[in-house]
Amino acid sequence: MPGETSTDVDALALLPLPDVNRLSRPQTEGTICVWCGSGLIPYTARDLGARPCRRGGQIFPRGCGSCVRAQAARVYAIHVTQCGHCLRNTPCADRTALRHLASEGRS
Ligand SMILES: [Zn+2]
Ligand SMILES: [Zn+2]
Repeated sequence: MPGETSTDVDALALLPLPDVNRLSRPQTEGTICVWCGSGLIPYTARDLGARPCRRGGQIFPRGCGSCVRAQAARVYAIHVTQCGHCLRNTPCADRTALRHLASEGRS
Protein backbone atom coordinates (compact mmCIF):
# COMPACT_ATOMS: atom_id res chain seq x y z
CA MET A 1 0.00 0.00 0.00
CA PRO A 2 1.49 3.39 -0.87
CA GLY A 3 1.85 5.96 1.87
CA GLU A 4 3.34 3.62 4.44
CA THR A 5 6.33 5.21 6.10
CA SER A 6 8.69 4.19 8.84
CA THR A 7 7.40 7.00 11.05
CA ASP A 8 4.07 5.16 11.24
CA VAL A 9 5.79 2.19 12.81
CA ASP A 10 7.49 4.35 15.41
CA ALA A 11 4.26 6.04 16.43
CA LEU A 12 2.39 2.75 16.63
CA ALA A 13 5.05 1.45 18.99
CA LEU A 14 4.39 4.44 21.27
CA LEU A 15 0.74 3.61 21.81
CA PRO A 16 0.00 2.08 25.21
CA LEU A 17 -1.88 -1.19 25.34
CA PRO A 18 -4.51 -2.28 27.80
CA ASP A 19 -3.19 -4.56 30.58
CA VAL A 20 -1.57 -7.30 28.53
CA ASN A 21 -2.26 -9.90 31.19
CA ARG A 22 -6.00 -9.43 30.75
CA LEU A 23 -6.07 -9.65 26.99
CA SER A 24 -7.85 -12.51 25.31
CA ARG A 25 -5.97 -14.78 22.99
CA PRO A 26 -7.42 -13.24 19.81
CA GLN A 27 -6.29 -9.82 21.10
CA THR A 28 -2.72 -10.97 21.71
CA GLU A 29 -2.62 -12.63 18.30
CA GLY A 30 -3.94 -9.57 16.51
CA THR A 31 -7.08 -11.26 15.27
CA ILE A 32 -9.27 -8.57 16.82
CA CYS A 33 -8.62 -4.98 17.88
CA VAL A 34 -6.64 -4.93 21.13
CA TRP A 35 -8.67 -1.94 22.39
CA CYS A 36 -12.26 -2.40 21.29
CA GLY A 37 -12.29 -6.09 20.36
CA SER A 38 -13.84 -5.60 16.97
CA GLY A 39 -12.89 -7.90 14.14
CA LEU A 40 -10.07 -6.66 11.95
CA ILE A 41 -9.83 -6.60 8.21
CA PRO A 42 -6.43 -6.20 6.55
CA TYR A 43 -7.27 -2.82 5.06
CA THR A 44 -7.84 -1.09 8.41
CA ALA A 45 -5.83 -3.22 10.85
CA ARG A 46 -2.66 -1.59 12.13
CA ASP A 47 0.22 -3.70 13.36
CA LEU A 48 1.31 -2.43 16.76
CA GLY A 49 4.59 -4.33 16.74
CA ALA A 50 5.77 -7.15 18.96
CA ARG A 51 5.25 -6.32 22.63
CA PRO A 52 6.65 -8.11 25.63
CA CYS A 53 4.22 -9.85 27.94
CA ARG A 54 4.78 -10.76 31.56
CA ARG A 55 4.81 -14.47 30.87
CA GLY A 56 8.12 -13.98 29.12
CA GLY A 57 6.96 -14.19 25.54
CA GLN A 58 5.83 -11.67 23.04
CA ILE A 59 2.43 -10.70 21.75
CA PHE A 60 1.56 -9.28 18.37
CA PRO A 61 -1.40 -6.99 18.92
CA ARG A 62 -3.19 -5.03 16.23
CA GLY A 63 -5.68 -2.24 16.38
CA CYS A 64 -8.53 -1.00 14.23
CA GLY A 65 -8.16 2.33 12.45
CA SER A 66 -10.45 4.34 14.71
CA CYS A 67 -8.86 3.05 17.93
CA VAL A 68 -5.37 3.73 16.61
CA ARG A 69 -6.35 7.31 15.75
CA ALA A 70 -7.99 7.82 19.15
CA GLN A 71 -5.01 6.41 21.03
CA ALA A 72 -2.55 8.43 18.96
CA ALA A 73 -4.50 11.63 19.69
CA ARG A 74 -4.47 10.82 23.41
CA VAL A 75 -0.74 10.04 23.48
CA TYR A 76 -0.06 13.17 21.43
CA ALA A 77 -1.92 15.35 23.92
CA ILE A 78 0.12 13.87 26.77
CA HIS A 79 3.37 14.02 24.82
CA VAL A 80 3.25 17.75 24.11
CA THR A 81 2.91 18.49 27.84
CA GLN A 82 5.82 16.24 28.85
CA CYS A 83 8.40 16.21 26.05
CA GLY A 84 11.35 18.52 26.69
CA HIS A 85 11.80 19.22 22.99
CA CYS A 86 8.17 19.95 22.27
CA LEU A 87 7.85 22.18 25.34
CA ARG A 88 10.71 24.27 23.97
CA ASN A 89 8.87 24.59 20.67
CA THR A 90 11.14 22.26 18.75
CA PRO A 91 8.76 19.46 17.74
CA CYS A 92 10.44 16.07 17.86
CA ALA A 93 10.04 13.09 15.54
CA ASP A 94 7.70 11.33 17.98
CA ARG A 95 5.36 14.28 17.95
CA THR A 96 5.31 14.44 14.17
CA ALA A 97 4.66 10.71 13.91
CA LEU A 98 1.89 10.79 16.52
CA ARG A 99 0.17 13.72 14.87
CA HIS A 100 0.36 11.99 11.52
CA LEU A 101 -1.08 8.81 12.98
CA ALA A 102 -3.87 10.66 14.79
CA SER A 103 -5.03 12.32 11.58
CA GLU A 104 -4.80 9.30 9.30
CA GLY A 105 -7.87 8.50 7.32
CA ARG A 106 -9.33 11.95 7.77
CA SER A 107 -9.57 14.46 5.04
ZN1 LIG B 1 -10.69 -0.85 17.87
ZN1 LIG C 1 8.37 15.67 21.61
